[in-house]
Amino acid sequence: MVSIIDKYSCCGCGACKAKCPKNCIEMVPDSEGFDYPVVNTELCISCGICDSVCPVHTESEFSQALPVAYAAFSKEDKVLFDSSSGGVFYHVSKWILENNGVVIGAAYTGDFKVEHICVDNFYDLIRLQGSKYVQSSTCDSYIQTLEYLKKGLKVLYSGTPCQIEGLYSFLGKDYDNLYTVDIICSGVPSPLIWERYLTYRKNKAKSRLNSVNLRYKKYGWQEYIILFEFENGKVYECTRFEDHYMRAFRTHCSLRPSCYRCKFKGIKRNSDITVADFWGIERILPDMNNKKGTSLLFLQSQKGKDLFNNIVDYLKVVQVDTEKAAECNPMMTYSAKEPTIRNEFFAEAEKSVIKASNRYCALPLRQKIGFVYQRIRKNFFNI
Ligand SMILES: Cc1cc2nc3c(=O)[nH]c(=O)nc-3n(C[C@H](O)[C@H](O)[C@H](O)COP(=O)(O)OP(=O)(O)OC[C@H]3O[C@@H](n4cnc5c(N)ncnc54)[C@H](O)[C@@H]3O)c2cc1C
Repeated sequence: MVSIIDKYSCCGCGACKAKCPKNCIEMVPDSEGFDYPVVNTELCISCGICDSVCPVHTESEFSQALPVAYAAFSKEDKVLFDSSSGGVFYHVSKWILENNGVVIGAAYTGDFKVEHICVDNFYDLIRLQGSKYVQSSTCDSYIQTLEYLKKGLKVLYSGTPCQIEGLYSFLGKDYDNLYTVDIICSGVPSPLIWERYLTYRKNKAKSRLNSVNLRYKKYGWQEYIILFEFENGKVYECTRFEDHYMRAFRTHCSLRPSCYRCKFKGIKRNSDITVADFWGIERILPDMNNKKGTSLLFLQSQKGKDLFNNIVDYLKVVQVDTEKAAECNPMMTYSAKEPTIRNEFFAEAEKSVIKASNRYCALPLRQKIGFVYQRIRKNFFNI
């Protein structure tokens, strides 16, 4: 029976809940707001299936070959604007939808919680685009995926590396009609901190929220800002260096414990395609820096290569050295370091996320310089 002795060893993917034959596991948030499995011991038959599907406790096997890496971005401006980096996820999803498939990924719900939803049309695809810096609940998406796969539909499942490993563990085998995209992930922040922050912003604006964008590219991709639009017409715009929530995320104070010891790091993955921001593109391949977003892609499998070949006409691409590209993005290989003041941050955030962020989430010097640079560009050059 699954039991959480150590919070560092549960990534919250929910594979145990989805697989339980007695349906006796619930994902319940702890005091920090992260979901953990809780077993109804009266219904549990101690079959051990929940333990056997836990991706943290099982060893994955990877192919011997390194993935092929590309710098890539969409040729369509709107796609670039709506995506966090180069919009590759959009084009892969579009191809799946055009070929009798469905796409499952992270979306905001009506009250701006983050959950995995299933999309079967172009109109709703926008809901999956863009990074939501909150742990997304997989809800029933693993079970839904299995149902669609059995019906013969193509399924594209996207998410964090732990969510993809949880899915494969739950399914127990690969399916020809299953495609997966994982992201390079620095770690997922607490849904409770997010909820409290939203409440603060809504109270301050004295209004309900209309929309949220944590990667708004008004001033460009590398200079992305945070945008909240409220029903009463008020707008909150802030740099990621100043915004209290983003500071907590970027200093790694608000992350799930398992993210500090993430088991799913590495260049080789079980997903078909790994996507990320191509930070440093302006130095490595200046011609591929369009200022609106460049993705770093790793084609992990033959299915990933086939997907890429199907969408390559919609992209500008340049192949890059896999290991050098991975070096540009340390979060591919290393876990975020746990701040020593993490517990103090969470304790203070119970009273006020703003005060906790001000007190514990000071930015490193390099990021402060970035902030000053961004301010100067905005105030003096209006760019
Ligand atoms: C919590 C988090 C941490 C990240 N850390 C890094 C990092 O350290 N380095 C880096 O290069 N890139 C990181 N990324 C990924 C990056 O921000 C872009 O998502 C990625 O470059 C893909 O961009 P895109 O333009 O192709 O697609 P987009 O349209 O921007 O991405 C959409 C995809 O992201 C998935 N997604 C969005 N939010 C979540 C979420 N909360 N949980 C699970 N899946 C989600 C959607 O399901 C969809 O597959 C992170 C993303 C998230 C959500």
